[in-house]
Amino acid sequence: MTSNLRIRKADDMHIHLRQGELLAKVLPHTASQCARALVMPNTTPPIVTADDLNNYRNSIQKLLKTEDAFVPLMTFRVMPTTTPAMVKDHKRAGATAGKLYPEGVTTNSEGGVKDLQTLYPVYKAMEEEGLVLCLHGEVPGVFSLDRETAFLETLRTLAKDFPKLKIVLEHATTADAIDTVLKLSANVAATLTAHHLRITLDDVIGDKLNPHVFCKPIAKRPADRDALLKAATSGNPKFFLGSDSAPHPVESKECACGAAGVYTAPVLLPVLAETFESAGHLDKLESFTSRFGAEFYRLPLNEQYIELHRESWTVENQYGGVVPFMAGHRFAWKLSSASSSSKANKTKQTAKSSA
Ligand SMILES: [Zn+2]
Repeated sequence: MTSNLRIRKADDMHIHLRQGELLAKVLPHTASQCARALVMPNTTPPIVTADDLNNYRNSIQKLLKTEDAFVPLMTFRVMPTTTPAMVKDHKRAGATAGKLYPEGVTTNSEGGVKDLQTLYPVYKAMEEEGLVLCLHGEVPGVFSLDRETAFLETLRTLAKDFPKLKIVLEHATTADAIDTVLKLSANVAATLTAHHLRITLDDVIGDKLNPHVFCKPIAKRPADRDALLKAATSGNPKFFLGSDSAPHPVESKECACGAAGVYTAPVLLPVLAETFESAGHLDKLESFTSRFGAEFYRLPLNEQYIELHRESWTVENQYGGVVPFMAGHRFAWKLSSASSSSKANKTKQTAKSSA
C-alpha cells in the first residue's frame, strides 16, 4: 500500500482569493499546496482594467513569503463594456485569461454579460492575443439543476465560431457537460472542483440543510458526480483541477440568505488524494492537479513538489472564521510539513506515487 505521495505542486486553475483580511487568511493555504493558481476577478469592484489587474496582483504578492514561490495567474472580467483594446491592455499587463459570468449567476456577478453574442470582437481579440476564455457556464433564470445543460449550446457555438480560442468550461457539474467537452476540439477543456467529485445535491439539502456545500453551480445527481469522477481520473487532458475554492465568512453562510461557495483550499490535496485513491486511480492524481492545466494554458510545468503521507487527521471546524469543506472529517492523507521542494530535486521526481 502506498504510504507516501510525492507529486508536482498543484496548479489550481480556478480560485477565489478575495481581498483584504480574507485574502490574507486564505492565501497561505493555496500558496502551500499550489505553485500557481488562476485568480478569479469577481472582486469588489471587479478586475476590469489593466490597472485593476496590476493592483490586485500586487496586493496578493505583498502577502506572499519568499519561500512560498507561488505565482498568481491573473484574470480580468469580461464585461459588457470590455473592448478589444482593453483585451490588448490586459495581455500587456500579463493576464492569463478573461472570465465571463452571465448576468446574476453567482457571487458578485451583477453587471455580467446578458448577450454573449455582443462580445464577438472581444473573443476575437482574446483569440489573437492567446488569452484563454473562462466561462461560468450557466444560464440564469433556468431551473437550477438545468442551468449548466442549458448553457452547452452556447459553448458549442463559441467553439465553432472561434476555433483557435482556448475555452474553459469552469467547474463542470453534469454528465452532459462532460459529454459536450469530450466532443469538442482540443481547444475546449473543463475544470473540475474537488467538492463536485464528492458531493451531490443530497449533501446540500437531502437531509438537513448544509450551507457550507451550497455553491454555484449547485451539486447535481449521483450519475453526474460519477461522470465527473470518471473524467477526472480518466487521464484525459481536457479535464483538470480548478478548485473554485470560494471562502465566505461563517456568518455569510449560516444565515437566512447564505452565500454560494465551498472553501476547499485548506484541504485541497488531501481531499483529492483520498478521492482518487477511492476511485482506484491515485496514479492519475498528478496529471489532474499539476500537468493538464499547465499544458492547456501553455505554461511550463511547475518545478516544485509536494509530499503527502498516510496519516489520519481531522480537519478543523474553521480556519480564520471560514468553515472548510469536510470540516471535522478524518482524512487518510496528510500534507507532510516542509514538503515543498524545488528545482534541485527535479531529477528525483518520478511523476508517480512512491511506495
Ligand atoms: Zn468560481
